[in-house]
This record gives sequence, structure tokens and C-alpha cells, in this order.
Amino acid sequence: MTKEKWGQLRQRLLKTVGQNNYTNWIEPIEFRAADDGIATFDVPTNFLGNYVNQNFADLILHELKSEDPTVRRLEFSVPAQADGTAETTNKATAPRAVPKPASGSALATAPLDKRFTFDTFVVGKPNELAHAAARRVAEGGPVTFNPLFLYGGVGLGKTHLMHAIAHELRQRRPDLNVLYLSAEQFMYRFVQALRDRKMMDFKEIFRSVDVLMVDDVQFIAGKDSTQEEFFHTFNALVDQNKQIIISADRAPGEIKDLEDRVKSRLQCGLVVDLHPTDYELRLGILQCKVEQQKANYPGLEIEAGVLEFLAHRISTNVRVLEGALTRLFAFASLVGREINMELTQDCLSDVLRASERKITVEEIQRKVSDHYNIRLSDMIGPKRLRSYARPRQVAMYLCKKMTSRSLPEIGRRFGGRDHTTVMHGVKRIEELKSQDGQIAEDLELLRRALEE
Ligand code: ADP
Ligand code: MG
Repeated sequence: MTKEKWGQLRQRLLKTVGQNNYTNWIEPIEFRAADDGIATFDVPTNFLGNYVNQNFADLILHELKSEDPTVRRLEFSVPAQADGTAETTNKATAPRAVPKPASGSALATAPLDKRFTFDTFVVGKPNELAHAAARRVAEGGPVTFNPLFLYGGVGLGKTHLMHAIAHELRQRRPDLNVLYLSAEQFMYRFVQALRDRKMMDFKEIFRSVDVLMVDDVQFIAGKDSTQEEFFHTFNALVDQNKQIIISADRAPGEIKDLEDRVKSRLQCGLVVDLHPTDYELRLGILQCKVEQQKANYPGLEIEAGVLEFLAHRISTNVRVLEGALTRLFAFASLVGREINMELTQDCLSDVLRASERKITVEEIQRKVSDHYNIRLSDMIGPKRLRSYARPRQVAMYLCKKMTSRSLPEIGRRFGGRDHTTVMHGVKRIEELKSQDGQIAEDLELLRRALEE
């Protein structure tokens, strides 16, 4: 592989990913070298590297292999800084490269993703509170809750909302000095200031912002001196009535290895969470993203029912949902077919398998006892009455068929019964299934309810 060859490959990628994706994601990456089966690329930011790695690595690898079959893996990293450290972005925890601030000047904010705005944020039940609070803060009016603490699981839109606030504030209140960065970058800058003996500058800069936004604050848990510095920065800003916006993957009280005084400080404003997405929200997000994708792939059609299927099957993480859609469009344009169910199953088999819901023994027991209107304790307990024994056997049968538990394991969860009892129950239901229409119907109903 050479840089010239990469130039040619890029043109082929342009055709498959479309002009918009190409300009946003492929053009900014630069081929560096291929050694030992690893092709390395320079990327301007870690964010971009991660995104390309998640969404386009398959396609790029595919193209590279056509030139150089020895390439097995891709790596994206921000080029080495003056101190000679290159940072690989594939690892989520890799510290980000941050331009060194010229002493005394304002601190550059971390790059904002221009697609993360309020316009592109789809609101549903699970995130409406967080969205409303973010909107309020983004108006830049008098500070009412400080800090605003947003929390929720991976890929539920915390960073999106934070960027949206920053974009909005910049527009409405260009007079305000808004600083957005991840907790990781906060630590990195703090450590750098310590090393360069520039703590005075560091403090001055952080205490002179009007709005401080720190993303993924759970990162500083267990990092004592960073926590300490964060605490002081935080207090200084609150005292000056400056707005602070924080995000984390869990509630302040649940972050381990975070000092109590930091926890209670974080809790004293408004704490709102982003709930896991529900079906309606996922469908709404997909519909919105399809419109964006269509701009990249004019003429590509998507069959009715595909989005509903994806919203149903892919779990709560929006990032996974988005990645699936990007891949679907790229794949469909590669093979020149419309997006229908068959293509979706082919192209996303790994994602679909990974997000298959794991059904538990407890769930089965609960559903079956509800269905037959008996108490859970009677299903699991020792009573041998037929009105308990039959549902119990049905539940055992479903456990055997729908979970990966072994017979002895299932027996244990049914009040410590022997595995031969379970085996007998499973056999009995198998027989009844073909003789007794009612049982067959019950099983079908229960199976469907459990698979939902
Ligand atoms: P988090 O920071 O909570 O891990 P992100 O904000 O990075 O999650 O979101 C992951 C991806 O999902 C982003 O591309 C984001 O734009 C998208 N996303 C999440 N929630 C929504 C939403 N409600 N509407 C539109 N896009 C969303
Ligand atoms: Mg985030």
C-alpha cells in the first residue's frame, strides 16, 4: 500500500459511502503506513477516528484488501504531538490529544460535532425531561439550576444534548465564554498544567468561563487529585453564579470512588436521567436518520416494515441503531439493491444476534404463573396439585426450550427439584402439545409474549 494507492481507493469509497459521508468522514483521514497487517491512518480528532472505526472500518478494510491482502486490521490515531506521543483512538479510554493552550489565552473548547443539535435530537417519553432541562439551560437566561446533571446509559444521547446546548448558547449568547470538554480532557489538561508548572494559568482559565460543561464525569472517580481540582473549580464557578452542566453514566450517588463532598455538590442542582429508549423513540430516531441517509444515497429505497423491525429488534443503545442503518445503506448501495427484509437480515446478522434478548428462568416463571393465574410461590413450591403441577411443567418446558440453562440448573430454580423431575415435565408437555389443543395454544401464546 502507498499513499497514491490510497488516493485511488478513496475514489471507490466515495461511490459506496456517498458524497456527504465521504466529505465528513473519509476525506479527513490520511493513510500513514501498512505494516505487519495493520494499516494506520492519521485522523484530526479522536472523535472522528472512533466514528470512522465504528462505521466504515469494514468497507475500508474491504477496499484495502483488494490492493494488499495482508492487511487485517485498521488503526486510527491523532498524529504525534510535539512531545512525541501518538494516541490510538480505538481504545475508548485513550486520552485525547489536546492542543496546548498558549499561556494566558482562553482555553480552546473540545470540538463540537456539528450534527449534534436540538434539531436532530428526537424527543420521546424516555428523554423528554432531559431534553426540556437542556433546552432551558441553552436559553442562556438567569441560572436556575446549578449544576444541571444529565445521566444515563451508553449511547442514549448525553453527549448529543451537551453539544446541542453548546451550539445553541454560542448562537444566542456569543458574549458568553462556553467551555465544553470531557472529564478525561479536564484531567489531561490538569496533569499537563502540573507538569509544565502552569497551575496558576490553569486555575485562571477555568475560573473565567461563563458556562462549564464536563462530559462523562464518572471518569474522574478514583483519580484523587483531579477530583480535588475539579471540586475547587466547580465551587469557584458556582460561587460566581456561572452555569455548570455535567454528564455521567449514572446518578451522582452511584458513582463509586467519588468523594462524598463531590457527590453532594453534584446533587445540589437538577439531576435528570435519560431512560433507556422505547420502541416509539427508536422508530422516531430511525425515521429521522433515514432522511439524513437518503441525502447521501439518493434513489435508495427502504421497504416498509424494515424500520419497525429494527426498532423492535435492536436494543436501547442509539449508537448501535445508527451504526446499523449506516451499514445497511452502504451495503445496499454496494450491491445495488433496495433495502428489504432479506438484505437487512443478511447485512446485520451479527448485530441482530448480539442484541437478541436473553430470556431468564424468572421471567418465564412469572409469565406462566400470570397466564394460569397461580401464585409464583405455588409454581416454585412443593405442592403437587394438578392445577400447579401442569403450569410448572409448562414453565420447565419453556425454560428448556428458550434458555440455555441445563436440566439441573432449571431444577434448582424450581424449588430445588431434581433434574429427572424437570426431564419428566419437559417430556410430558412435549406429548401433550400434540394431543391437547389448549396446551399447544398456551405454549404458543406464552412463547410470543416472552419473545416480545
Ligand atoms: P452518550 O453520550 O449518551 O453515550 P451520544 O450522545 O454519543 O450518547 O449518542 C450516541 C448516538 O446516538 C449519537 O450519534 C447521537 O446523535 C444519537 N442519538 C442518541 N439519542 C438520540 C436522539 N434522541 N435523537 C437523535 N439521535 C440520538
Ligand atoms: Mg457521551
